[in-house]
Amino acid sequence: MTRMQYHPLKARLLHVLQVEALSPRLRRITLSGPELDGFLSPMPDDHVKLLFPHEGVVLPVLPSFGSTGASFPAGTLRPVARDYTPRHHDPERRTLTLDFVLHGDGPASQWAANAKPGDAIGVAGPRASRLIDRQAFKHWLLLGDETALPALARWLTWIPPQARVTVCVEVASLEDRIALPAHAGADLVWVLRRPSSQGCALLAALQELPRHASSAGSVESPYAWIACESTQMRGLRQHLLNERAWPRKQLYAAGYWKRGDSDHDNEH
Ligand SMILES: Cc1cc2nc3c(=O)[nH]c(=O)nc-3n(C[C@H](O)[C@H](O)[C@H](O)COP(=O)(O)OP(=O)(O)OC[C@H]3O[C@@H](n4cnc5c(N)ncnc54)[C@H](O)[C@@H]3O)c2cc1C
Repeated sequence: MTRMQYHPLKARLLHVLQVEALSPRLRRITLSGPELDGFLSPMPDDHVKLLFPHEGVVLPVLPSFGSTGASFPAGTLRPVARDYTPRHHDPERRTLTLDFVLHGDGPASQWAANAKPGDAIGVAGPRASRLIDRQAFKHWLLLGDETALPALARWLTWIPPQARVTVCVEVASLEDRIALPAHAGADLVWVLRRPSSQGCALLAALQELPRHASSAGSVESPYAWIACESTQMRGLRQHLLNERAWPRKQLYAAGYWKRGDSDHDNEH
């Protein structure tokens, strides 16, 4: 149903071309540079590793990749690295656009909050893409928070227009809703994040979805994709597997970050 496509691994030195505010908590940063030649990102949920310069230093330390994996120049401190989704790649203009959640804490969020044209950053990958047959499913269920918006936007462009798509997005405030690409078969629901004592807004929205929109028992073959805070992701995955008898092979769920955990490993 899915298979991996591996790409040649390379770390690229890029520079900020443009910075735009998409919402109070979402910043779009366009990077550019000749090293983008050969960059590949065929799937909506591909990710790159961003490599940030050390404090007070202009250029990031970049690894080279060989048969034994990544190696860094001798005597250098490894850079801080975080996962981000390529929102848009324009091979002709040699640009790569990324959308950052400004959550206030953490080196990636702080870098994005302060980024200005000319700033340098390293971009490694994507290492691989999880290929899915886009004709195999007639119905898609997409659940995510702000960190998933770049991938959600790409899914909406990638999924064939005759398919049905149910999209639920959790945001911190009404102002954090952004325009997403139009899709003829999409139903889009925005939900507001709740204080943790009041449970997960995405799970509540999923529980309220009519069974035809979120049920594996539907005659239309469904595929579910989830990306959000890790504990929330587990709750959503459990709900689909246990309450909706969702086929495991038709489900991909990833913890894109974990509350209280810095540099959380991509959990899926
Ligand atoms: C495959 C993949 C793709 C991703 N794509 C994107 C993307 O396109 N855009 C994007 O913004 N993020 C994306 N993320 C999430 C991003 O990698 C994490 O949010 C990351 O932790 C941010 O790093 P940081 O240095 O800002 O914070 P960290 O140093 O990792 O964390 C510091 C503190 O901030 C908290 N924190 C981290 N992220 C958030 C958040 N979003 N909201 C509230 N608190 C948070 C942590 O719990 C911790 O307490 C993606 C993650 C994965 C695994």
